[in-house]
Amino acid sequence: MVEVTSNTGVTVYGVIRWMGLLAGNPCDWAGIELEYEVRGCSDGSHAGQRYFTCKAGRALFVPVTKCSPDQRFLCSCPGKDALRPPDLPPAPTFEESEEDFLPVPESQAPSLLVGRMRGIQGHFNSCYLDATLFSLFCSSMTLDGICHKPAEVEQPITRILRKEIVNRLRRQGFVPAESVMNLRKQLGCSTFLKEEKDPEEFITALLQRVCDEPLLQLRSRRETCQGAYTFQIILEKEQVGKVPTVQQLLETSFLSCDLKLEEIPFCLIVQMPRFGKKYKMFPHIVPSTELDITDLLHNSRRECFICGRLAEHECLQCLTDSKLQPGRIKQYCTVCNTQVHTHPSRQSHCPLALAAPVAVPTDQPATRHMMELFAVLCIQTSHYVSFVKYGPNPRSWLFFDSMADRCGDDQSGYNIPEIRACPELGDFLARPEEDLSRADPSQAGESVRRLLCDSYMFFYQSPS
Ligand SMILES: [Zn+2]
Ligand SMILES: [Zn+2]
Repeated sequence: MVEVTSNTGVTVYGVIRWMGLLAGNPCDWAGIELEYEVRGCSDGSHAGQRYFTCKAGRALFVPVTKCSPDQRFLCSCPGKDALRPPDLPPAPTFEESEEDFLPVPESQAPSLLVGRMRGIQGHFNSCYLDATLFSLFCSSMTLDGICHKPAEVEQPITRILRKEIVNRLRRQGFVPAESVMNLRKQLGCSTFLKEEKDPEEFITALLQRVCDEPLLQLRSRRETCQGAYTFQIILEKEQVGKVPTVQQLLETSFLSCDLKLEEIPFCLIVQMPRFGKKYKMFPHIVPSTELDITDLLHNSRRECFICGRLAEHECLQCLTDSKLQPGRIKQYCTVCNTQVHTHPSRQSHCPLALAAPVAVPTDQPATRHMMELFAVLCIQTSHYVSFVKYGPNPRSWLFFDSMADRCGDDQSGYNIPEIRACPELGDFLARPEEDLSRADPSQAGESVRRLLCDSYMFFYQSPS
């Protein structure tokens, strides 16, 4: 495994597939199969002669002296002095720059991000941080605005997050464990340094420090608004079907907790109903790739569940009525509200009046307010990993594990983070929702199974 740096300073990585004398050259040459395509490279032939075979655009021929060992995989061999491998591998040099980087474009993401030693390197119980940071910043710009402050007021923690983590991930595709350690130190509290915490605790601790205001304003009927950074689903199992969608869980949870969103959030982080590392309320949950938050907004115009006219009431008790479609918010116009509740089994219900919507002409269809899914954090036997959608193409999904492999022993080695492409996830999610809830996870591929069974947190962003 070698790296070669060109005269212009660009470093490429690959595996030597051939060595020998190349026609007309006096010294030894190497034929390297590169990790990704580079313009001007071949498929293993040189000047009409084939030396080895690989994908087109991946074969590079250089004098052997231009190759050096791939720095990313360096760990010193135990010699006479029983040299111990370093605790952390040498990080590739990274030029500090004041420039901020946008997420990697969809077309370049596979070549920059997919592979071993990619993503955020795990170290010492850090997978909950690594997977959360990767979910939030790899492909989404939703938090970029609030993390960027004028230099004179920028806090050290914001600076580390922006320069050492976000920019490094987007520019280089790799963040060494050291950078995450620096962030953990800045979070201050010694528990963030030593112990494994929950992603929601980390998100709140981090965003409280870098954002000016909470991501969500939750309004309850009796109280004033409360700020929050994540939303925990709270409901009774019977209120939804056996295999609920995120949409159903969110709507039911908002209604049973009597909450509304004060305004459309630009980022909505939804935490699944599971407790501790063992218990989960649902064996599998269907990810909603689009979330319709119209009926969760405090003053949006909502449609009657029965007839489609302007809804003026909603009823919590109707939620679990098996004669009505399960898992949907039950909201009614005045006429339907009266009719539904004349049924003897519903006469004890206490439907609540909705807040008057913002003024809109009633002859126009109500505007739907949608959020799009951009990442899913998963947990399996107390190890966190994440799935990230890196572009508009439905098949543009990545899987990230900050501790996919390890070099060296427990005491003195380091973790090898890995990113894999998961286009099969897009194919699966493109199927109709009923198909998804009927799918048998044990028959699905590994990544689909993990997405369905291990989800811990869903990340949504406003398309605008
Ligand atoms: Zn109606
Ligand atoms: Zn009712």
